[in-house]
Amino acid sequence: MKVGIVGGGAAGFFTSIWVRENHPNSQVTILEKSNKILSKVRISGGGRCNVTNAEPSLSALARAYPRGSKLLKKGFHEFNNRDFMRWLENEGVELKTETHGHVFPKSNSSQTIIDCLSGKAEKLGVGVRKNWPVLEIKPGPSGLTLRSKNEDLKFDKLIVACGGSPKKQGLDWLEALGHKIIPPAPSLFTFNIPGDPIIALQGLSTKNTRIRIQSSKLMYEGPALITHWGMSGPAVLKLSAFGARYLHDLDYRFGIQVHWDSQFSQEETLDLLLESSDSKRMKSIANFNPVDIPKRLWLHLIDKSGLDSRKPWGELGKKGINKLANTLCNDRYQVQGKTTFKEEFVTAGGISLESIDPRTMESLAVPGLYFAGEILDIDGITGGYNFQAAWTTAFLAAKLL
Ligand SMILES: Cc1cc2nc3c(=O)[nH]c(=O)nc-3n(C[C@H](O)[C@H](O)[C@H](O)COP(=O)(O)OP(=O)(O)OC[C@H]3O[C@@H](n4cnc5c(N)ncnc54)[C@H](O)[C@@H]3O)c2cc1C
Repeated sequence: MKVGIVGGGAAGFFTSIWVRENHPNSQVTILEKSNKILSKVRISGGGRCNVTNAEPSLSALARAYPRGSKLLKKGFHEFNNRDFMRWLENEGVELKTETHGHVFPKSNSSQTIIDCLSGKAEKLGVGVRKNWPVLEIKPGPSGLTLRSKNEDLKFDKLIVACGGSPKKQGLDWLEALGHKIIPPAPSLFTFNIPGDPIIALQGLSTKNTRIRIQSSKLMYEGPALITHWGMSGPAVLKLSAFGARYLHDLDYRFGIQVHWDSQFSQEETLDLLLESSDSKRMKSIANFNPVDIPKRLWLHLIDKSGLDSRKPWGELGKKGINKLANTLCNDRYQVQGKTTFKEEFVTAGGISLESIDPRTMESLAVPGLYFAGEILDIDGITGGYNFQAAWTTAFLAAKLL
């Protein structure tokens, strides 16, 4: 059986390994358009490659995917994060788990993962053709032909693992075969808030902030980070992932409401402020902060509420307390644009999951053609989830059922 794999990235290499493991009589060739393999693995996780996430609950793992969570929830019963970590360790790669379950090679170098994947594929006899851009797939009565610039190659089975395309036109050749395409939109970005005085506080982070996109139900909480262009941090990145399509349609211009310390509801915050105005009567507002946010942010929010931070709590009055509670729990910003999150970004959209069999990754339009990795309309939040989707879909596709 001759098997062709389009794309020499994470999904392409992992598929090639499992095709050889599952079908020892197969002849496997990876066709890569550039002169480099595994180039995204190299730059991933700031050069350290966050290979997966150690989340112990498979349901929670699946919830990290704004698109594709149902397919992956089932897929994780066949190959999940624990399976991948075990696989890497069996291949001699030592791993470590950092905060939020982010898993990295102990070497802190993505080269370790590149060496592991490419070395294993080589050992299994997988062929790699670089500078071989696939331009067209031609299904025929006895196999599938791949067309490149000067050459055609015929295969019995094909797996397309060519990654996400930022533009819909990049997917025309797959649409022409009868696949439904979900228009691409970037995911995992930070919010630009140009000109707002908050950016003077760049570098400050909060522990538990809830951010809501105005006029929508989109809302996430977690740590937030103030940057020199706006806001970042887990709460923002999660919002950008779950709201990828909606925010794309708004051309990245929208209002947000920020609840800075969301461990306390608005009523509880109000109570805390009232209590402080009673028990800390003589203390200046600047010098006593009853909520858990950095001091400089606290001072900024007092100022934004139109209050004098030198005043004692006892002189704040009901009106002042209401104003401060409102700024703490319902602070508003106008987002105007996005900035790519350099550690990790992905494309939402691609081959619609309606066009494939979710158990085998086989195309419903072209028998013998399979998909794996980011080309599918599957993407996760930041933290190793995107690679895990590549490993799981590659494993499923490589069964060639
Ligand atoms: C800067 C950055 C950092 C990241 N960090 C992380 C991280 O730490 N953890 C994580 O989980 N995710 C991370 N991601 C996301 C992750 O890299 C991707 O989800 C993952 O690489 C997808 O794998 P893939 O094999 O499907 O696609 P890709 O890695 O994009 O590989 C596709 C390959 O196919 C080739 N190709 C494309 N079209 C053709 C064609 N027509 N013919 C032949 N070859 C073709 C491409 O050249 C490429 O080599 C990061 C992404 C970026 C951009």
